[in-house]
Amino acid sequence: MKIIVCVKQVPDTSGKVAVNPDGTLNRASMQTITNPDDMNAVEAALKLKDATGCKVMVVTMGPPPAAGMLRELMAMGADEGVLVSAREFGGSDTYATSQILAAAISTIGVEEDDIVMCGRQAIDGDTAQVGPQIAEKLHLPQVTYAADITKDGNTITVKRMLEDGYMTIKVKTPCLLTCIKELNEPRYMSIDGIYATYNKPLETFDYEKLKDHPLIDATTIGLKGSPTNIFKSFTPPQKGAGKMLEGAGKETCEELASILAAKHII
Ligand SMILES: Cc1cc2nc3c(=O)[nH]c(=O)nc-3n(C[C@H](O)[C@H](O)[C@H](O)COP(=O)(O)OP(=O)(O)OC[C@H]3O[C@@H](n4cnc5c(N)ncnc54)[C@H](O)[C@@H]3O)c2cc1C
Repeated sequence: MKIIVCVKQVPDTSGKVAVNPDGTLNRASMQTITNPDDMNAVEAALKLKDATGCKVMVVTMGPPPAAGMLRELMAMGADEGVLVSAREFGGSDTYATSQILAAAISTIGVEEDDIVMCGRQAIDGDTAQVGPQIAEKLHLPQVTYAADITKDGNTITVKRMLEDGYMTIKVKTPCLLTCIKELNEPRYMSIDGIYATYNKPLETFDYEKLKDHPLIDATTIGLKGSPTNIFKSFTPPQKGAGKMLEGAGKETCEELASILAAKHII
C-alpha cells in the first residue's frame, strides 16, 4: 500500500503580498510555504504510515526550487518525492494542472490498496478544483473535506465536514481524498528525519518522461492547453472603518435613518 500526496508550494500570504502592476502576484519577491491544507494531507498520510507501515510519496508540480519543499516533507517522514517540472507545463490552469498531475500519478502507478491525497484548496489559486479533477481523470472515487480518516482493510471511513455538521462516508481503495485543517496538527521535521532525507529518492518527471502519456499533449497542458485565462486581476479597494451607533432610542434611530438617507440607501 502507498499514499501519494499532492502538495503545492504557495506564496506566504501571511506576510507582505506583492502585486505586479498588471495585478498578478509577484511570486519572486515573496517567501514560499507548503500549502497549509497539504500539510494536513501529509500528516494524515504519515499517521496511516505509522499505523500500517505503508509508503508515503509526495508529488508537486512547480519550478525546480520546489524540490526543497519535498525534502522538508521527507524530513517529516515521507519516503519518496516526485517533482513534476518542465517549461511546457508553465502557465497551466487548473484543468491542465490536474491533467499533468494525473499523468504523473498514473505513471507512478495507482494500485488496489493505494490512496491519493490532496489539500482541499490552495491559498493562492483558491479554486479547490485540482483534487476532484485528478480523481475524475484517474477514474477514482473521491471524498472531499476529510476531517477524520480511518482505514480498515481496503475500506476507508471518512468524516466529511459540512457547513452545519458532518457526514460519514465509506469508500474503497483506490480512492482520492481532499483534506482540511480540522483533520490534524502537522508534525515538525525531526533531526533524524533531516539526516535521512538525503538518502531518500527524489525523482523529477520532466516533459520527456510524461509526453507519451495519453493525458498529455499540447492541447491539454501549459498555457495553450488551458481553457481558462485571467481576464482581469485587481486588489479590491480597502473599506473604511465603520461607524458604530450606541443605543436603541429614538435619537439613535433618527441618526441611522439620516445616515442611510444621505447615502441614498433609503
Ligand atoms: C490561465 C491561467 C494561467 C495560470 N498560469 C500559472 C502560472 O504560469 N504559474 C502558476 O504558478 N500558476 C498559474 N496559474 C494558477 C494555476 O493554474 C493554479 O495555481 C493551479 O492550477 C492550482 O489551482 P489552485 O491553486 O486553485 O489549487 P486548488 O485546486 O485550490 O488545490 C487543491 C489541491 O490540489 C493540489 N494541487 C494544486 N496544485 C498543485 C500543484 N501544482 N502540485 C501539486 N499539487 C497541487 C494540492 O493538494 C492542493 O491543496 C494559472 C491559472 C490560470 C487560470
